[in-house]
Amino acid sequence: MPRGRPRSGPPVQVVPLGGLGEIGKNCTALQHGEDVVLVDAGVMFPEEELYGVDLVIPDFGFLRRGGRRLLGVLLTHGHEDHVGGFSFLLREFRVPVYGTPLTLGLVRNKVRDGALHPVQPRQRVRLGPFEAEWVRVAHSVPDSCSVVVRTPAGTVVVSGDFKFDQTPIDGRPTDVARLAELGEEGVLALLLDSTKVERPGMTPSERVVGERFHQLFKKAPGRVLVTTFASNVQRLQQAFDAAAASGRKVAAVGRSMVDVIRAASELGYLKFGRDAYVSAEEANRFPDRKVLLLVTGSKGEPLSALSRIATRSHRQVRLERGDTVVFCASPIPGNEATVARTINQLFRQGAEMVYGPTSGAHVSGHASREELRLMIHLLRPGTWCRYTASTGTSSSTPSWPRGWGCLRTVSCWARTGRCSSSRPGTARWPAGRRWATCWSTASAWATWGRWCCGTGSTWRGTGSSSPWWP
Ligand SMILES: [Zn+2]
Repeated sequence: MPRGRPRSGPPVQVVPLGGLGEIGKNCTALQHGEDVVLVDAGVMFPEEELYGVDLVIPDFGFLRRGGRRLLGVLLTHGHEDHVGGFSFLLREFRVPVYGTPLTLGLVRNKVRDGALHPVQPRQRVRLGPFEAEWVRVAHSVPDSCSVVVRTPAGTVVVSGDFKFDQTPIDGRPTDVARLAELGEEGVLALLLDSTKVERPGMTPSERVVGERFHQLFKKAPGRVLVTTFASNVQRLQQAFDAAAASGRKVAAVGRSMVDVIRAASELGYLKFGRDAYVSAEEANRFPDRKVLLLVTGSKGEPLSALSRIATRSHRQVRLERGDTVVFCASPIPGNEATVARTINQLFRQGAEMVYGPTSGAHVSGHASREELRLMIHLLRPGTWCRYTASTGTSSSTPSWPRGWGCLRTVSCWARTGRCSSSRPGTARWPAGRRWATCWSTASAWATWGRWCCGTGSTWRGTGSSSPWWP
């Protein structure tokens, strides 16, 4: 059979329940007959105009209807936009959950233990007509993987979030050899993380952030506050290392930071000296120049530790002149205004601020354009589908992958229940758009099955639930 061609027999449907054309709530269903496996079940954080909404989760109504049977959930990595919707899913479906050890460590408080099945990269798991395999990729949380699902119609690869970091902090780069082997075996379809598709070249290594930490921690006259995604364990490791080199004790401020440091150190993904880590209260007893605080709130969430520090309403931490705040994140699209407000408030308190794209304190965990090209060249998929791209990106670059060696290139024009266009409690898919259309350069597209693109949102918080799935 030619590489990447569909096999005959019943079709396999790929149904994105979220994550397509939007940043967040990544969740993809693969269906063969009545059997379904789900890759990831994430949340999206509400945009500013979603008053009273705490989280936006995928609409799992799809799994409830049509006699579908959910066989299991396959996790790519432990970021909230890939695993945060679990607690909602597992209220209804008692299914096994598969993921690498740290990924499961990060979701352990969301699910009952019996449902969790740790897997190692390159391990295969059989689920009805599907066979899943995990392939290690570099990303901003350790133990990240692409998920390969062998279906009766052919192999579908969900890349998950990834980049080709040549000098990863944990010494475990993307498993290029296995990806190349999969390309030889034949890949029917690739769902590709294209968050940073507009950025040319290669994404810098996470290691450059550590070098910047060493400079900053050494010269800062007072306390240093570093805010980053709590799950970026490699960055936390670099912060611990630089703190040790500059004689600073480390304390975590914010629930998720405390949880991640505990989980990652217990599993051996984060290493530090016995006396290096203290509580936030204990940190107040040390001279300012001997303290590093790791603080949650890099997304500008109003209730996060950093936002409370910025408004002087945090119980333990009060900012003083001479303190340095290192902002290790770029705002998630839609959150720019909130993040800018927090930074302004910190400035007003006299803090030295290190932030922005030229600060050297942040690199993305996502592949740039040349890395996307490399992934496609390694896997040589029959079909290629952008994933996790912002709407602007999706609509402005419809043809850029042409000529990249695929049999077909596909742009999925699904509009993913854009929160910004709906009011909480009244979210409805526009009439006639329930099953969004796909655009394909090849007329043979339909021969291997229906590629159904459609997503929905269920609103949580004070907004009511309004699933739209038929
Ligand atoms: Zn991620």
